[in-house]
Amino acid sequence: MDISENLHSVQKSLPENTTLVAVSKTKPVSDILKAYDAGQRVFGENKIQEMVEKWEQLPKDIKWHMIGHVQRNKVKYMAPFVHLIHAVDSLKLLKEINKEAKKNKRTINCLLQVKIAEEATKFGMEINLVETILSSEEVQKMKHINIIGFMGMATFTENKKQISKEFVFLKKQFDNFSKKYPSLKILSMGMSGDYEIALEHGSNMVRIGSAIFGKR
Ligand SMILES: *Cc1c(COP(=O)(O)O)cnc(C)c1O
Repeated sequence: MDISENLHSVQKSLPENTTLVAVSKTKPVSDILKAYDAGQRVFGENKIQEMVEKWEQLPKDIKWHMIGHVQRNKVKYMAPFVHLIHAVDSLKLLKEINKEAKKNKRTINCLLQVKIAEEATKFGMEINLVETILSSEEVQKMKHINIIGFMGMATFTENKKQISKEFVFLKKQFDNFSKKYPSLKILSMGMSGDYEIALEHGSNMVRIGSAIFGKR
């Protein structure tokens, strides 16, 4: 397993306008540096504490993405540096991010996580709540957050039709909402096992871990 080789072969398979988030959760700083030295600057983590520790040790031009479920009481630890939070799933969380971003004199980019999988275990909002949040005056007044798109995770299955159906649903919602809310630009969908399907269905940001860094 050669991290820079893996990285380059993933990069080569992506269309030009696609952002690659290299998911480095559970992997040591030395592995991240290998990808960094091969040119990668965007990394994703799913635990705030782990992301903070890595941020402290690594070059400051890395853009850190929080891709995991976020507990409100931990937002403060990443507010000084996080570049994009993928899994925003409530109004309360948005309020907390706005508050902590303000303390840090920053504006934090957020994606709304939309529930597309059939599995009950997956996080994300129902599409009705997405509409409620985007149209809310309270949210529109929040000066320290930018909602720039949607994120979705498909069901963990071998059934490609099922996965396609879920990505198609999210792309359709994304197209509809981005007409009304032009700040929505990012559609984060696709992981190592399903990113090719996600790209077919309009993803412009993929979150890839094991195909770059190996099994966890
Ligand atoms: C771990 C994780 C990924 C990457 O998974 P791989 O299968 O290793 O590519 C992507 N998105 C989220 C939200 C994750 O937690």
